[in-house]
Amino acid sequence: MSRYIGPVCRLCRRETASSKTGEKIKLFLKGDRCLSKKCAVERRGTAPGQKTQGKQRQKVSEYGRQLREKQKMRRYYGVHETQFENYFREAARVPGQTGRTFLQLLERRLDNVVYRLNLANSRAQARQLVTHRHFRVNGKLVNIPSFIVKAGDVITIGERSKKSPVFEANFEVAKNRRAPEWLEYNDAENSAKVVQLPSREQIDTPVDEQLIVEYYSR
Ligand code: SF4
Repeated sequence: MSRYIGPVCRLCRRETASSKTGEKIKLFLKGDRCLSKKCAVERRGTAPGQKTQGKQRQKVSEYGRQLREKQKMRRYYGVHETQFENYFREAARVPGQTGRTFLQLLERRLDNVVYRLNLANSRAQARQLVTHRHFRVNGKLVNIPSFIVKAGDVITIGERSKKSPVFEANFEVAKNRRAPEWLEYNDAENSAKVVQLPSREQIDTPVDEQLIVEYYSR
């Protein structure tokens, strides 16, 4: 399946326009640029193709809500439809709350971990850095963005990679921002350890995973 190569801000605007509460939902697909005033959600906040705000929207069905929530989470993590569904099937096999396990699996992807550690300014950049062979997990080179980390794993950066301008800039950002509690970042060595698997409270992804469980359970 091909990857979406259109303007990513359209994806954000779609989710904001379908938010029931009117809350401005940002998917942060462009890294730090999402914090600027140029952010399309801040400037417009309408759905792609919809010119004016405040136009009466059609009533959204239950299925429509579930579908939008699924699309939002998939776009947030930048995962293809088939792979996303595979994560759900895998989560459904694990005893316990499927929604939480599903979210946890996505959160444990190596590209997401790199992003959460602030070693990349977006998940797209994190994915690229991983495929370009900059990271090692427990000393072994890993260039698969979907690699799932476990508690106790240690993530390091190749010695040569550390000197590259992109990492030097990202190290500065990482110093000033805190990684989530389930990850421990070592400033001196620019390495990180997965202290524990993330709990739902430690994942700030703005989704209602139960709606996605209902979507796939139809
Ligand atoms: Fe674009 Fe980022 Fe704003 Fe989303 S949050 S509309 S990706 S600038």
